[in-house]
Amino acid sequence: MGADRNVTPRKPALWITGKKEIFERVQTARLLNHTIRLVPTMGNLHEGHASLCRQAAEETSFVIATIFVNPIQFGPKEDFAAYPRTPEEDRELCARSGVDLIFAPNVETMYPADSCTRVQVSETEKPLCGRHRPGHFIGVATVLSKLFHLIPADIAFFGLKDYQQCLVIERMVEDLDFPLKIRKCPIVREPDGLAMSSRNRYLNPEERGQAVILKRSLDLATRLLQQGERDAGRLRQAMIDEIASAPLGRLDYAEILDAQSLASIDRVDRSAVAALAVHFGKARLIDNALLNPM
Ligand code: AMP
Repeated sequence: MGADRNVTPRKPALWITGKKEIFERVQTARLLNHTIRLVPTMGNLHEGHASLCRQAAEETSFVIATIFVNPIQFGPKEDFAAYPRTPEEDRELCARSGVDLIFAPNVETMYPADSCTRVQVSETEKPLCGRHRPGHFIGVATVLSKLFHLIPADIAFFGLKDYQQCLVIERMVEDLDFPLKIRKCPIVREPDGLAMSSRNRYLNPEERGQAVILKRSLDLATRLLQQGERDAGRLRQAMIDEIASAPLGRLDYAEILDAQSLASIDRVDRSAVAALAVHFGKARLIDNALLNPM
């Protein structure tokens, strides 16, 4: 496996759906002295996912992407059924991005009828998406703990677009002694600043035009901080006012929290995260930015 794998089109990644087979493949890769690198996804892959795969693909690594639309992380009124599924395109993107193997189990494989165990990362999941999507992070933590067992990886790669998810997973890995490292990767954006997301395809052209307001609002908070504003309430209000200038947007939350604990703060005197969730039509978009006072 060469370093040029990042740019050279390669043969299609292996596509595996069974638990026993994936486990055996990982054991074989280990015997060949590869480090196992895992990129968990829900498919409908875009450049954001590709950047994770490329960062995972180093000379001696064996890169496994998982594609699984995890039903238990969706609320009853959310878009599980409508979530875009594009296996052919995903396979091509994986081949271009240095992925060796795709694990794409079906729902019955991951959740046999009698399965009922759930994993909850109780504190970290409380604010932001945890509050607005009850049960979401229980679904995320449960599926990832299953994947971490099935695929004993050395490093798992996650995108900072899902900032709270990164913290939930880091906490879980530490609390449950999973022997793997979590690598957090930068947010990949469209040219106008919109964070790439599988859900962007729900946007009609007018909504797509206005959706850039999330990034603008985060940029505004960053600018105000640089100009000396430290009051978290005023920064938050500035973000809310900016979002309100996009008539098709419906705010779910705008928060400024401690970047590590996600606790509420009054002032940005240490590293904080500005986090947003905004509905545009059928799409619920999230984005965030780190706020670092000088
Ligand atoms: P998803 O398929 O949406 O569950 O995402 C799978 C992984 O890709 C997660 O770790 C996401 O945070 C990451 N990801 C999704 N979109 C982006 C993006 N625009 N930039 C960086 N990482 C991303």
